[in-house]
Amino acid sequence: MTCMKPEGAEPIATAKGALDYNPFDAMQPRAPAAIPAEARNGGRVKTANRSPQGVYLPNYNILTPQMRSPEYVQLSTAAAITLGIMPGRMHRCGCTRCLNLLLTYPEGCRANCAYCGLARHREAERNYADRNFIRVDWPAVPMAQVADIVAKDGAASPFHRMCISMITHPDSDADTVAVLKQWTSRIDPAAIPVSILSNPTTMTRADVARLKDLGAYIFTVALDAATPELFERTRGKGVQSPHGWRKYWEILEDARDIFGPEKFGAHIIVGMGESEADVLHLVQRLRDMGGHSHMFCFFPEKGSLMDHLPATPRDQWRRVQLGRYVIDYCGARVEAMRFDESGRVVDYGLGQSEIGAIIDTGIAFRTSGCPGKFAEDISACDRPYGDSPPSDIASFPFQPNKTDLRKIRRQLGMPKT
Ligand code: SF4
Repeated sequence: MTCMKPEGAEPIATAKGALDYNPFDAMQPRAPAAIPAEARNGGRVKTANRSPQGVYLPNYNILTPQMRSPEYVQLSTAAAITLGIMPGRMHRCGCTRCLNLLLTYPEGCRANCAYCGLARHREAERNYADRNFIRVDWPAVPMAQVADIVAKDGAASPFHRMCISMITHPDSDADTVAVLKQWTSRIDPAAIPVSILSNPTTMTRADVARLKDLGAYIFTVALDAATPELFERTRGKGVQSPHGWRKYWEILEDARDIFGPEKFGAHIIVGMGESEADVLHLVQRLRDMGGHSHMFCFFPEKGSLMDHLPATPRDQWRRVQLGRYVIDYCGARVEAMRFDESGRVVDYGLGQSEIGAIIDTGIAFRTSGCPGKFAEDISACDRPYGDSPPSDIASFPFQPNKTDLRKIRRQLGMPKT
């Protein structure tokens, strides 16, 4: 028998009166406000024209220096701590395994995605290099300094992967190439493989092929929104942003053709108003193409156009994490799953003991992304606390322990019997 019905699969009101999923109608972003003329396109930073002095730690109280890729890149706080560029400790994590390098410009990202802390509308209140992104600050560091540290560490480097994260900017394609070349001139990409988090809006098929030729190993596309309607609302005309669903799929298909099976993937944010059925059908589509899905739990990023909306309820998130994992790594298929009238998973299409054993490994609930050196289904990209606070972890950046698993089972409505 394949039935696996989570307790609590009826329409749910929690103690606070909230639903156990984020429905489309409740997840409307705010409209972007007007930006003062002097702040547009990095105007304040360019007018002040201060020279950078080495590492820049985000500080909203001083005027940001003029920093520009490919000379400068931004790093997640976790990567900066791991490199020794910033002091600090991470809750239950010794380090991060993925070095995320984010391109940076005074003009910042020219897109306006509703859930994103880097979005253009924030020019009104923060210079680009001071903006929070996936809940943390991103220090700006000379690329040469990053390459020096990693090259010096050699085989002892804690990093299992490097990822160049593009933003929407006219120089982004050329600077991704420049950063990739600088990296591969100092670090063997066979020792620390490189992923590209692409920006399809400015890219062509030839750009995708060039990055592969230059040594990139995995290519990903941040679809983020799971349906065309949600994409348009959060990344397209709905928020005066330039992205288009079709163009994203065009580049994703180019990546499939050029990088090949298991070497491409798509990011999906869960809980922005799609149903669980929507996400898991998308996960299946990606798997059938030969790729993988990398999941993020929606968190209302401070300063974004969705910062007034609820984070994804843990019940919804855990069901989707589990569904994604069994499709991507356990041979399950979405056609064998069952969903209720709100699109929530009520049956994963696997036997009860099988699904119980999968839950008990805990891997389904770890951060998902490009693989590292431990196993194909364990992501190098662990993004510590990028989608939740440590007090209520969504994506586990480490192996969940027994206590964590008890909590996860409660969230799934599947307490151990
Ligand atoms: S393109 Fe990427 S970085 Fe730019 S606003 Fe959208 S999600 Fe943020």
